[in-house]
Amino acid sequence: MTYIIAEPCIDLKDGACVDVCPVDCIYGLDEDDVNQLYIHPEECIDCAACEPVCPVTAIFAEDDTPPEWDRFIDINYEYFGMSR
Ligand code: SF4
Ligand code: SF4
Repeated sequence: MTYIIAEPCIDLKDGACVDVCPVDCIYGLDEDDVNQLYIHPEECIDCAACEPVCPVTAIFAEDDTPPEWDRFIDINYEYFGMSR
């Protein structure tokens, strides 16, 4: 499993999650051409440290992602050339 980032992060990208991730697996903060951040599905260790620090509740355990944002699971995987 992994954690994923959903719609509320779009255009906010404040980086709070990046600061707490112990394995530096959240990408996109310094990339101007992406409008949200992404969690690498194989590097994430499911520690959950990022989830409570997100000010807009954009981060979810993959299996707990709200149905309306299910597509963001694919969007996260595809950013790294992977599929779930
Ligand atoms: S769950 Fe832990 S390892 Fe995975 S992205 Fe969040 S802080 Fe990083
Ligand atoms: S803490 Fe939330 S809003 Fe901020 S960059 Fe991470 S996922 Fe996006």
